[in-house]
Amino acid sequence: MSNSKKSTDTKKIDNQKATIAGLNTEIVTHVCKRCNRTFNLRAKDLAYLSSNSECIFHWGKLRNVRVDKVIEHKYSCCSGGMDSDGCEVGKHVYDGDYNGNGNGLNLAGYIQVDENTTSDEYKTSQNVYALDCEMCYTTKGLEVTRISIVDIHLNEIYESLVKPDTQILDYNTRWSGLTEESLRNCNKKLKHVQADLMKLFNKDTILIGHSLDSDFKAIKLIHTNIIDTSVVFPHKMGPPYKRALRNLMSEYLQKIIQEDVEGHDSKEDAAACISLMIWKINEDLRSKKFANILNQPDSRSNQSNNSLLNKNSTSTFNINNISSSNANLGNQRNLTITNNKMNMPKIASK
Ligand SMILES: [Zn+2]
Ligand SMILES: [Zn+2]
Repeated sequence: MSNSKKSTDTKKIDNQKATIAGLNTEIVTHVCKRCNRTFNLRAKDLAYLSSNSECIFHWGKLRNVRVDKVIEHKYSCCSGGMDSDGCEVGKHVYDGDYNGNGNGLNLAGYIQVDENTTSDEYKTSQNVYALDCEMCYTTKGLEVTRISIVDIHLNEIYESLVKPDTQILDYNTRWSGLTEESLRNCNKKLKHVQADLMKLFNKDTILIGHSLDSDFKAIKLIHTNIIDTSVVFPHKMGPPYKRALRNLMSEYLQKIIQEDVEGHDSKEDAAACISLMIWKINEDLRSKKFANILNQPDSRSNQSNNSLLNKNSTSTFNINNISSSNANLGNQRNLTITNNKMNMPKIASK
């Protein structure tokens, strides 16, 4: 076992090396996130051992259902109760380094755009993209299988399938829409996608998405210039609760997304995030949230104020304003929008 292999494995929880009696094989043990049973991978190549039990699980979520005036917890997949046997059979899965598992995130293989790639010419609406990924379960955890990027006009900028390096345990077809067949002829690996992204993004690129942390972990990207619609449109109960993208689209834009029985469409989800943000900006403009800022006597001359909305040439929106006061955007940067490039689509309000 190599040193690098060792260091990778020590990052994982449940990596209790064990010896199977008689076989003298080093194994890595994980707890299945779907059924809570333990399962084993062969340590040297992360092969899924055939001696593992079947994973019997509910693919749906537990929901509160009123039955005879009593609230009961039932799975959305089969209406089974909280303690019922699962309704689907598959392999055991885990999230891998994806969620850090309490040991911190393993940042090996992560990429970040060059700090020096910043320039006024990048500070335009053409440098704003939305990104969404589909993922599958592999013996390394959750890995990306598809990535879609659209621009502010909802044009497709980048679209690719991605073949995981390790054995796939579950294609997540129900959610991802991808199957073994979809990836059969795909030769693109994550490292190739990362190289493409580094050509597409620079330090000023603003990336929009819904729960972007998941996507960034999947494509191993570090980027701080972001707008996350799960934060801009928070759940009424606050974190860690998040509103579903399809519910936001339905509520604010009266649009039904994720209807396809064959799974999500990452391009559709990325476009939905752009539409929501454009709706939000237009709505804030309409509700005169910017009025106070515009009426400040020195606002036109004070660029450092960064809250200027100038009809003549360049409009600098403070993202913090755009995304409303209840949004914690982490890194609040300024989006400069040149009018002749902006041409912001109008999204009808409810
Ligand atoms: Zn079920
Ligand atoms: Zn399981």
